[in-house]
Parts: sequence; structure tokens; C-alpha cells
Amino acid sequence: MGRYEDLGIRRVVNAAATLTRLGGSLSPEPVLAAMAEGARWYVDMEALERAVSARIAALTHNEACTVTGGAAAGLVVSAAGCMTRGSLGAAQRLPDAAGLPNRIVLFRNQRTRYDQALRLAGAQLIEIGYAVGGTYPAELEDALTDQTAAVVYVAGSHLSTGPLPLAQVIAIAGGRGVPVIVDAAAQLPPVENLWRFAEMGAALVLFSGGKGLCGPQATGLVLGRAKWVEYARLCNSPRYAPGRPMKVSKEELLGILAAVEWYLAQDHPAMLARWEEQVAYMVQALDGVSGLSARRDFPSEAGQPVARARVEFGPDAPVRRDQAVLRLRAGDPAVEVLTAEDDVMFLNPVCLEPGEERLVAARVLAVLHGD
Ligand SMILES: *Cc1c(COP(=O)(O)O)cnc(C)c1O
Repeated sequence: MGRYEDLGIRRVVNAAATLTRLGGSLSPEPVLAAMAEGARWYVDMEALERAVSARIAALTHNEACTVTGGAAAGLVVSAAGCMTRGSLGAAQRLPDAAGLPNRIVLFRNQRTRYDQALRLAGAQLIEIGYAVGGTYPAELEDALTDQTAAVVYVAGSHLSTGPLPLAQVIAIAGGRGVPVIVDAAAQLPPVENLWRFAEMGAALVLFSGGKGLCGPQATGLVLGRAKWVEYARLCNSPRYAPGRPMKVSKEELLGILAAVEWYLAQDHPAMLARWEEQVAYMVQALDGVSGLSARRDFPSEAGQPVARARVEFGPDAPVRRDQAVLRLRAGDPAVEVLTAEDDVMFLNPVCLEPGEERLVAARVLAVLHGD
């Protein structure tokens, strides 16, 4: 990694999550090889996008796919596709949505910082429901008009109090011919999510290529129903459309295909077992030491069925949690963690290389005593 060092960029040991701001995930060798292969030919980019997407759709048991420049780019082209529904002329005019159905309905407590991607396409956001008090089915029914382009639903059990259940949303929206877009960017594992939401009847399902799939960081998948995916594709790179500024390179197209193949070929129970062992090591190394108490926690911060270590800083801990976080971040390599409540940090195994759990536990102990 001479170039990073040359630039003065420290390596991060990522005990936080597949966070885009930390680089997403690390790609395995077959993905890197596919990207290098991609760099060696000129090709027809529209044909390549269709061929790669068709292969990914078949591998993931979906009718269709289009590869985007990330899950957030997937929100842009999905929103644009649901608004323009195959009209190239309308797609060219976006984000000017005059005369198009451009309202996108979403649940108030599923608002995320990625919503801006929907507005970038020209959509107007209509909020329903409450975090406290939930949502009545009639609220969704009332929100669906002839101006509605789609309903957006953000998957993950951490966001499931307040909105209606996805199956009910799909039933109500489907009854009115309104497509449901599921943002499942960080919802791998479990691997079944690649087809489960579409099987439930979602029109479009979005994943980050650079999170659980370990593909190129600036890729994403839009999977789902043939008709709706085609509408999204017409708004996607490499066409002159709202997705054009979020283009996907030929290297990335081959890379994400290799990543999907790699991910599907993994021994998923063995992967979960390795993460459990890493969590068990960190819990055992930190529990009862210097005022810390540690235990296994489940599920992950995004509601995925993956364990993590929950470390609580008791009154006897020599430093407070926030100071420990700053010291971990200041080290070389830096160690990044997630926090909760006033005194809790979470150590997540999914982005740790084998053996890095030892480094993380040792660094946590070291920063307690001033290092
Ligand atoms: C990470 C994330 C995104 C954005 O994904 P990118 O691939 O980085 O564009 C969108 N929605 C949710 C819920 C996410 O977690």
C-alpha cells in the first residue's frame, strides 16, 4: 500500500461496519482480477451493461438487473424510472418533472440522508406515519394518487417500528399499480435478501456493491421486475439520463459481476461462524478488564443477523468511551468503532480480516491506559 503511505493516509482497521465513509469493504482477489481484465479492452458499454446485468439477474434469481454507481445512484435511477416509465423524452427533461407523476411516498421514521438521491431525480417526497404511534394503512392508501411515482421502503429490522410491514405496503401499493422500491443497500447478509424482497413483490430492490458484496465501492445493483428495471435502466449510465453523472466503468461492471459470483459461492454459515469466533475473542479479552464489561450483541446496527461485541465503559474505567474512541481513531493503524448510549462501543467483525480481532482488542486495552 505504498501509495496510501506516500499520501499520508493511515490504514483503518474497520470494526465499525461496511460504511461508505470508511471505504465500504475490501474486494477479494477475483474481483481485483476482473477489474484489471476490464481495463484492457474497449467495448460497447451499453452492451456490456446489459450483459453483466442479465448475468447478475440470473445468478440472483431476479427477472432483471441494472448496475448503478452505488445504491444511492440506484435511488436516483429507480425514482427517475418510476416517474418516466419508459419515456426517453421525459427522462431527458429530469429533474424537471412537470407533467409527470413525481410523488414518492416514504415512512417518516425511515427517512435517511440518502433521500436526497430521490429529489435529485426530480421527485417530491411525501412522508407518512410516525416513529411513535406507527402508521395506519389508510394513511398509505390516502397518499397514493395519480401523482404517485413509487413508494420507497428502507429494509432492516432497526427501522421496522413505525412503518407498516413491507408485505402490507406491497399489497396496498400493488392494488393501486404503484411500484415499491426497497432500499436494501446494507442488507447482506443474509444472502437470501438478493431475491427475497423481489419475491415478496417489490418492483425494484437496491443493494450496495461495495458493502456486503465486497465489489467495487462505486457500484450498486437495482434488481427486480423486468418492466420496472427496464424503466430504471433507461435512466441509468451509460445513457444520457439522470444516472449519467454516476457512471459505472467497464472495470467496475466486470468487478461487480465477479463480486456477485464470489459472494454467492461463499460458505455463508462458515462466514457467520468466523465472525462469531471473532466476537467471542473480543468479548473474552475485554470483559471484566479495567472497568469494562463486554458481551455478545445481536443483531447488527443495520438489523442484519450478525453478532457483534458490545463493550460498556463502567464507572471504574480509566477513560470515558468518547476519549477511547478518539484515541483509537488517532492510532496507526486507526481503529474505527460504532457507539451507542453514553458509554457503549460496538466492535463489529464483518469488516475485520482474520486475526484483526486481536489487534482491535489490544488497541482498546491500550487506549484505556493512555496509549
Ligand atoms: C449505504 C447505504 C446507501 C448508499 O449506498 P452507496 O452504495 O454508498 O451509494 C443507501 N441506503 C442505505 C440504507 C445505505 O445503508
